[in-house]
Amino acid sequence: LMQLFRPLDLLGWVYRTIRQGLVDMAAMFKLMDTNIEVEDRLGAPAIVVRQPIVAFEDVTFGYERDRTILKGLSFEVPAGGHTAIVGPSGAGKSTIARLLFRFYDPWLGRILIDGQDIAEVTQASLRAQIGIVPQDSVLFNDTIGYNIAYGKGGADHHTMEAAARGASIMPFIEKLPDGFDTEVGERGLKLSGGEKQRVAIARTLVKDPPILILDEATSALDSRTEQDILATLHAVSENRTSISIAHRLSTIADSDEIIVLDEGALAERGSHAALLAKRGLYAEMWSRQQSESEAVA
Ligand code: ADP
Ligand code: MG
Repeated sequence: LMQLFRPLDLLGWVYRTIRQGLVDMAAMFKLMDTNIEVEDRLGAPAIVVRQPIVAFEDVTFGYERDRTILKGLSFEVPAGGHTAIVGPSGAGKSTIARLLFRFYDPWLGRILIDGQDIAEVTQASLRAQIGIVPQDSVLFNDTIGYNIAYGKGGADHHTMEAAARGASIMPFIEKLPDGFDTEVGERGLKLSGGEKQRVAIARTLVKDPPILILDEATSALDSRTEQDILATLHAVSENRTSISIAHRLSTIADSDEIIVLDEGALAERGSHAALLAKRGLYAEMWSRQQSESEAVA
């Protein structure tokens, strides 16, 4: 009987969550092919974030019982700090983002935001604090305005326009015959990868969260568009705590701190300059990527 009810519960949850505009669509799709195992504690309070400090404390986690993905990971991002997480594909970088958004609970250890264990507060209040810009943002088959505003129920026109400006997509929208009312997606105007990312950034600006996760947010773009979007993301990250997950190291070299993840464990940490001087894994990845990009150019 329980199994019969679960899909209905899931649908109800998805519906409520979409309605509340709390979850990014791409994140939602990721969630839907996984189990919903996380529930609010009975009587859990809303999180109260005064200083958006993010801390992982000895976090150990895996998706399957006998396969550990993160192994005793600890790090702290200070309020307003910009931390990058790099490492080989499969190292567990996106898993960090999923845990912070509380799609799963750690096996061991804790994740804290402003000193509060995220497992002890409501998911709705937690997710309201975090904006995620994923690699491929998913658009609804609806107007461009709807796609921007659903970050926060019914955003007014002024908020939407400010967000579109912040994401540098306002000039593009102004040129469209129907402006914000232009239909986009499969049945409407096709947006380029860069334009889609700008819509996702505008959506995040409407939500206005103190914490940002950029998970390979520019990695699907050509290098020219990547540079444009990176500049926008830098501006948007100002005055927010950010965690940037990146494969291309050149995109995160100016982060306050870079964490090098290797097979789910922290291998190295430091600034770009400090990590190069260390001549370890990061330095090796850097020189490999430098010679690759020279080979391409
Ligand atoms: P990265 O972002 O560093 O490339 P991920 O955090 O996405 O890596 O994944 C780390 C490891 O966890 C990978 O080996 C991946 O196959 C595995 N993994 C990711 N998601 C799931 C899942 N839902 N179920 C089982 N294994 C998963
Ligand atoms: Mg990833």
